[in-house]
Amino acid sequence: MTATTRITLVQGDITRQSVDAVVNAANSSLLGGGGVDGAIHRRGGPEILAECRALRASRYGRGLPTGQAVATTAGDLDARWVIHTVGPVFDPHEDRSELLASCHRESLRVADELGARTVAFPAVSTGVYGWPVDDAARIAVASVRATATAVEEVRFVLFDARAFRAFAEQVH
Ligand code: ADP
Repeated sequence: MTATTRITLVQGDITRQSVDAVVNAANSSLLGGGGVDGAIHRRGGPEILAECRALRASRYGRGLPTGQAVATTAGDLDARWVIHTVGPVFDPHEDRSELLASCHRESLRVADELGARTVAFPAVSTGVYGWPVDDAARIAVASVRATATAVEEVRFVLFDARAFRAFAEQVH
């Protein structure tokens, strides 16, 4: 982040946020899934999936690699773009934290390319992908702090109180 970047925390539903860009914890197929991905596609409508399919057919025939990010329209969400990023599956036997950090760095890089000034992130990898939320919060916040970006607000939107507390520990 830079001197003009603020990290804010909200407990709630990321699909209800009014921001320039919403980050999606996608899977590499880009074709939708459960959790936050399912919620974004449900509320955002079919335009998002249509662009994801086009990306599969063009740049990402083998899927979006873990740790990378790519943007589509935000469809009916109150946002201009969805930035899809693929978090690593937690593995207690292998340190994949660099890939989780990369999700945040790459999402902010894409946000800068788009000119997004407010970006909402979910707690990437902490659902189906099994990452312990305290550790994920530490990595996410450190990665945002280490990334030079023109984004003015990075808003972490945490679904439950447990995740909110984990992020609050890192930010305050
Ligand atoms: P991953 O596959 O990266 O683990 P999940 O979608 O399973 O992604 O979970 C990531 C996080 O998103 C979890 O902490 C989950 O509680 C949270 N989550 C699920 N739905 C929403 C939502 N609508 N808004 C914000 N966070 C959500």
